[in-house]
Amino acid sequence: MTTAAELDAADPLSGYLDKFYRTEEVVAYLDGNSLGRPTRASVERLASFATEQWGSRLIRGWDEQWYDLPLKVGDRVGAVTLGAAAGQVFIGDSTTVILYKLIRTALDARPDRDEIIVDTDNFPTDRYLLEGIAAERGKKLRWITPEHDAGATEAQIAQALGPKTALVVLSHVAYRSGYLADAEAITKIAHEAGALVLWDLCHSVGSVPISLDEWGVDLAAGCTYKYLNGGPGSPAFGYVRKEHQDSFRQPIQGWMGTSNPFEMGPAYEPHDGIRRFISGTPSVIGMLAMQDMLDLIEEVGMAGVRAKSEKLTEFAVELFDKLLAPKSVVLASPRDPARRGSHVTIDHDSFAEVNAKLWTQGIIPDFRRPNGIRLGLSPLSTSFQEVETGVRAIEAGLQ
Ligand SMILES: *Cc1c(COP(=O)(O)O)cnc(C)c1O
Repeated sequence: MTTAAELDAADPLSGYLDKFYRTEEVVAYLDGNSLGRPTRASVERLASFATEQWGSRLIRGWDEQWYDLPLKVGDRVGAVTLGAAAGQVFIGDSTTVILYKLIRTALDARPDRDEIIVDTDNFPTDRYLLEGIAAERGKKLRWITPEHDAGATEAQIAQALGPKTALVVLSHVAYRSGYLADAEAITKIAHEAGALVLWDLCHSVGSVPISLDEWGVDLAAGCTYKYLNGGPGSPAFGYVRKEHQDSFRQPIQGWMGTSNPFEMGPAYEPHDGIRRFISGTPSVIGMLAMQDMLDLIEEVGMAGVRAKSEKLTEFAVELFDKLLAPKSVVLASPRDPARRGSHVTIDHDSFAEVNAKLWTQGIIPDFRRPNGIRLGLSPLSTSFQEVETGVRAIEAGLQ
């Protein structure tokens, strides 16, 4: 088996490791899929923003730069990571709120249909939102139950689709198993049944190549604090396909999405195009750090990011086979790298305690109920050595 040192030495992207801020106390950071590290550039950008932008420009900053930022940064996210032409991506609220807005938008666009397809392994916020919206709008949820190391398959979705399906809501990469759905194929079969599709890209954006325009996707949303390293609570993005924008209306009709916010007119009049999906004043501070990560991803290209990601997860699975499978640890992610995002989940009944112990040693994966440790391998900031250190510490923790 190739060693971590050899893999790091052969890694064409190893020079990027140093573009991220690090402290010595953390010896293996394996949770970049929950919260990416700050880039060094962001550490500087955040500090200088306070004095040079906010402190100096004051309210003038809105006219000069900030008002357009949600769409400018949205276009960058679209171009660098989503395969989306300009004018289809906005940065705004939390993922949860954007998902709410887009789910409601889609249901209103299919008023004669009353079913929504979702899977039981989707992220909690997606499931909870859908329960609430179904109750609010008198719709029914059709649940798909994936295998424990996989996600909703084309066959399962084809079976659930019908003339009543309004919307399919799925994660592109499953937050627990790491299963990478075939978004293009699923979008196609949903469209053949007359349904709309909303992809949750939280665990794929910035780690897996995405081609929303080419795949014909209607709607998408995703986090920016995971593989886009936007910092804790940085605002999410939403994608609305160009051809839908002027006929779709979103439910949180705020002043920032109107045709002329500073007219302060008597009634809501949605702006043309993607701006109508914005509701209130956006977090300008929240949009700073993600811009630095987008610069790095653009330099490398998503194909390069994905190649490193596959090597990292392959290495994690190899180490799992050698060190952990003999100790009754179970792989809860797909074995086929083509069907896997950038994290690997492994299950064992003692992992809640093992994970807590790792955190005291500066080894930081995360624990996911009921018994999983997720090894999140953010491609540009994670070394092969960190993967090995992490898996060896888990092995030692099982003694
Ligand atoms: C992380 C994540 C979210 C988080 O939503 P927030 O509103 O940012 O808390 C939603 N969906 C998926 C699939 C996620 O992985």
